[in-house]
Amino acid sequence: MFPASLDAVSLTSALTHTHTHALAAIAGPARELAGLALEFVLVVLLVDLASGIGHWLEDTYGNPDTPLIGRLVIVPNLEHHAQPRAFLAKSWLESCGDLMLAGALLVAAAWALDLLTWHVVVFALIGSQANQIHKWAHQNPREKGALVHLLQRMRLLQTPREHGQHHQGATDSHYCTVTNALNPLLERLRVWRRLEGLVERTFGLRPRTDPATGRRAAGRAVSGGLSSAAATGTLRARTTVGSAAARVPLPSSGRR
Ligand SMILES: [Zn+2]
Ligand SMILES: [Zn+2]
Repeated sequence: MFPASLDAVSLTSALTHTHTHALAAIAGPARELAGLALEFVLVVLLVDLASGIGHWLEDTYGNPDTPLIGRLVIVPNLEHHAQPRAFLAKSWLESCGDLMLAGALLVAAAWALDLLTWHVVVFALIGSQANQIHKWAHQNPREKGALVHLLQRMRLLQTPREHGQHHQGATDSHYCTVTNALNPLLERLRVWRRLEGLVERTFGLRPRTDPATGRRAAGRAVSGGLSSAAATGTLRARTTVGSAAARVPLPSSGRR
């Protein structure tokens, strides 16, 4: 009895040991995979944040008369506020070419500095398509195709309803254009208003204003109605392309 009982104990112990080892063998790669997935999500959120910061800078301090940047970035941006769906006429290359160049330069710089990792490559790849993701948020399901529509419904890409909130009122909120994740948090924390306060206290620079009204001149396009309707252009824009750009003052008059 005694030796038999001992054998049973040893067998149980051996099995437990083997089981623990097997679990550890599976848990190792699973943990690694979970870690990689988390890093990927953080990179995507970083792209979203970068899109928001760039967009906020354009909308808040951009001047259409700035050499080069004014013509290439600020004027199209104002036109987009005035006529949200007009930029859909641009080709993919026209919309994404500049960001693809920036992404390539970023990867090259990271490589030259020996800092190149897959995170940088993913950041550059997704970031270079930020404008395309933005365009999808302005298209109706027929225009963007079933796959993109599905990815939006799965909240893997920013939805028209989320982006539509930027196009309502003074276009001074919901600046991130890649996912639905960051905008609510940034708005709740009033991050953009706090940053504007910081910029004003540090550099004396105020958000641009409309000389006629003295209010923010982000290129007001639409107001009221469903936010998704604003994004997909089913609400009528109230301003026209030329007038939105013309109403934005020079930096010297951009004080409130
Ligand atoms: Zn905007
Ligand atoms: Zn838009």
